[in-house]
Amino acid sequence: MTRFEPVIGLEVHAELLTQSKMFCGCAVVDPTFAEPNSSVCEICTGMPGTLPVINQRAVEFALRVALALNCSIAETSVFARKNYFYPDLPKGFQISQYDLPLATNGWIEIQDASGAPSTKRVRIRRVHLEEDTGKLLHHEQHSLVDYNRSGVPLLEIVSEPDLLSVYQARQYSLALRSLLRYLEVNSGDLQKGVLRFEANVSVRPTGSEELGTRTEIKNLNSFRALSRAVEYEIDRQTALLRSGKPVVQNTVGWDEGRQVTVPQRSKEEAHDYRYLPEPDLPPLHVEAAWVDRVRAALPELPAAKRSRFMTEYGLSAYAAGVLTADRPVADYYEAAVESAVESENETLPLKIANWLSSDLFGLLNEADIEIDQSNVTSEALVRLVSMVENGRISAASGKTVLEVLFKEGGSPESIVEERGLAQLEDQASIRPIVDQVLSDNPDQLAEYLAGKAALSEWFLGQIMRATQGKADPAAARAELDAALLDLDEIQSSR
Ligand code: ADP
Ligand code: MG
Ligand code: ZN
Repeated sequence: MTRFEPVIGLEVHAELLTQSKMFCGCAVVDPTFAEPNSSVCEICTGMPGTLPVINQRAVEFALRVALALNCSIAETSVFARKNYFYPDLPKGFQISQYDLPLATNGWIEIQDASGAPSTKRVRIRRVHLEEDTGKLLHHEQHSLVDYNRSGVPLLEIVSEPDLLSVYQARQYSLALRSLLRYLEVNSGDLQKGVLRFEANVSVRPTGSEELGTRTEIKNLNSFRALSRAVEYEIDRQTALLRSGKPVVQNTVGWDEGRQVTVPQRSKEEAHDYRYLPEPDLPPLHVEAAWVDRVRAALPELPAAKRSRFMTEYGLSAYAAGVLTADRPVADYYEAAVESAVESENETLPLKIANWLSSDLFGLLNEADIEIDQSNVTSEALVRLVSMVENGRISAASGKTVLEVLFKEGGSPESIVEERGLAQLEDQASIRPIVDQVLSDNPDQLAEYLAGKAALSEWFLGQIMRATQGKADPAAARAELDAALLDLDEIQSSR
């Protein structure tokens, strides 16, 4: 049977976090809080006789992204009218870049397979600026339209068809989201629709160089929907080809309820949009000096940070990936490691990474908050991890301390003090407990003395239980062995 492989190219739309809209002075507002149609003017609603003006900040944000994606920046790019008629588009056209986009020919590195140390470069075809549309709110008998979003700066990032699995499509979209957040140009909040994905999917016989006929899945607004929809399309197209039927090129939507794709319309061609250079805007010139300034101001990007975390702190690729996906998390981790530099314990950066990515992340997820909203300062986390490392408290007590810190804040030391969580390490405090356990269990002791050596483990368990896990296991073991030896000697000298 012929084997087929998927080929995927993604178009990503990201609203830019500018103060004002792309071509007018209206504020960009959060749809969750703003009254509908409270931030509109004659320009973003397309009144005759008004003139658009290019938002410089939006261009700067677009440059940040384009440079971070290793693109070539066009000295001159041109805005065009993309004509189509839809109620959410008050002008009857959208201003977008078409023939001459702001940036082209970039790439981004992603992990190519789950658990694989290898990475692959996904080529970026183009990055261009456009404006968002308004928003339709459908009710049973009527629809309402909110133009607050109309004219919000929108960045479109188009990949080459380089993604060869659902996994890669997901990694790519996660990597882009992470990048946009690092660059502080987009919040990455998919639920609010500020970041949206469209997936172009085709399949072809494995090994073939030619591209198959694609379908385009519109408006995917969660990573889950993206993965599911792409997977569904791959299976559907593969089944068609297997039974000798052609794939028809069209646009489909993702039905979340039924978990299937549904045909929307046959694909428009560029000429359907009657693109024409926007007569009301001059060509956009970007000076080399400006590009240099933007490049120089770029922060350390996720991929660079990830490899630095691996070499500098000895983290695995996986751990480094987890800790660098979000800039605030990466900053938190580095602040923690920074405050641990005095420590002699060279594995502390690794230990901190573990406590952070398993225990603290768990608490953050549960409470649904971000790391910079947490009560647990990076310094407190380090002091807590150090206490576990040097044996002052057990790992189990460490988790308790973390939970209390997370809920109430405070210092780990005083939580240990207040709750009596310090381990009993000194022999003087452990010995009476050992003696008590031995005298409470005369039958087991007799068996032990008669030769059942394995019972010493059982005694150790009883001691740990009697101290509620606070005894330092090594110290408890030493005290128990000493006590049993004494008894043995007493017995054999009789
Ligand atoms: P449009 O959607 O406007 O027609 P393009 O033709 O440039 O734009 O393609 C858009 C996206 O589709 C790009 O991300 C590209 O990589 C991807 N793509 C194009 N052809 C295929 C194909 N045969 N299979 C999968 N993806 C494809
Ligand atoms: Mg498209
Ligand atoms: Zn406006």
